[in-house]
Amino acid sequence: MNTRPVWVEIARKKLIANYLELRRLAGNTVEVLAVVKANAYGHGMETCARLLAGAGAEWIGVTSVEEGIEARAVCPDAKILVMSGLWHGEGEAAIEHRLTLVVWEAFHLDLLEAAARRFQLPAQSVPVHLEVDTGMSRQGVQANSALLTSILNRFHAESPLRLDGVATHFSAPEVLDGKDTAEQAALFAAAIEQIAASGLRPAWIHAGNSANLLRADPFPRALKESAAKLGAKLMLRPGLALYGYAPRFTEAGRAAIPSGMASAKLSPVLAWKSRITSLRYIQAGESAGYNSTFRAARPTKLALLPMGYADGLNRLLSNRGTVLVRGHHAPIAGRVSMDQTIVDVTGIPDAAIGDEAVVIGGRGETSISAYDLADLTGTIPYEVLCNIAARVPRVLVD
Ligand SMILES: *Cc1c(COP(=O)(O)O)cnc(C)c1O
Repeated sequence: MNTRPVWVEIARKKLIANYLELRRLAGNTVEVLAVVKANAYGHGMETCARLLAGAGAEWIGVTSVEEGIEARAVCPDAKILVMSGLWHGEGEAAIEHRLTLVVWEAFHLDLLEAAARRFQLPAQSVPVHLEVDTGMSRQGVQANSALLTSILNRFHAESPLRLDGVATHFSAPEVLDGKDTAEQAALFAAAIEQIAASGLRPAWIHAGNSANLLRADPFPRALKESAAKLGAKLMLRPGLALYGYAPRFTEAGRAAIPSGMASAKLSPVLAWKSRITSLRYIQAGESAGYNSTFRAARPTKLALLPMGYADGLNRLLSNRGTVLVRGHHAPIAGRVSMDQTIVDVTGIPDAAIGDEAVVIGGRGETSISAYDLADLTGTIPYEVLCNIAARVPRVLVD
């Protein structure tokens, strides 16, 4: 039962429109994998995965086998890519649920081979994707390493595993004039050449997130050429942009380019709302909240919202953030508590119990975005969205 007035609205049409827009920008020859990891960036994985698959997404990206199993329950036909390897005890579930694993450690292959043998699966029947580390130094077999050669040797004709895809991840694609992406692409292209030379024929080559997709040149030429030589299809992996936020691009000598490439039409999918549940007036000099960090400079009307940092409202928004009430910004007064937040509605004389308070959402001048909250709390919109707590119900709206 969700009766507490704190909720998130997920706009079905916006999510689908964003996905279709990204497909259009990627072009006909490039596949778009829809990333729904981390509860679809806080938007609700089951709902988003189902909608995206319904809109035509052939590939769904998750972070773990656990998430893959949840995605499989709502996407019976999609290809589900588990992007961060697997751990002990997960091999059989991965195969049972037909998850495609991104692998790079020898033990990933051991686990999948052992599970495939237990199911007595024939040679080449379990598709896996190999990640090549081209400079992120986070996961993946390092390009140009002896390990890459020995991992490639594992994909012999009798193995139950088949090399179906090769991937890498860029570390700074939103820096438009940066050389990192070009250098990583060159290393990746060389690794693909090595893979081709060893006789392997992966069907998919993928790299690149929202920022790559929204650039004028999602794939550097070297990558397009090596994929073409291999007869493999290129794929991009956007996450954030699906949910309506373009990365902030930067270029030397220019301020941040706020909405990415000008042609992208994306709308934020998520709105976060609450309602005023109590009102009071305090006199000049009186305080509000823990440790009296808000002190009224004038007779002040305060409204209570039944939500706090346990719902994901960052405590750094204390005396800094605002919410929208009747289309006006109501400043947060004092410290955000665990389950309660006080806002100053003095400037909004009609504010009443039951009024909606918009934490993220609104339109035009009177809107608050995940970027606004991120700027006030020293982080990125990803974290703002992911931090919306599980106890906040996600409601699907049109
Ligand atoms: C999260 C993730 C993405 C999506 O990144 P966005 O910046 O949200 O578009 C793509 N690829 C990998 C490997 C990821 O982990």
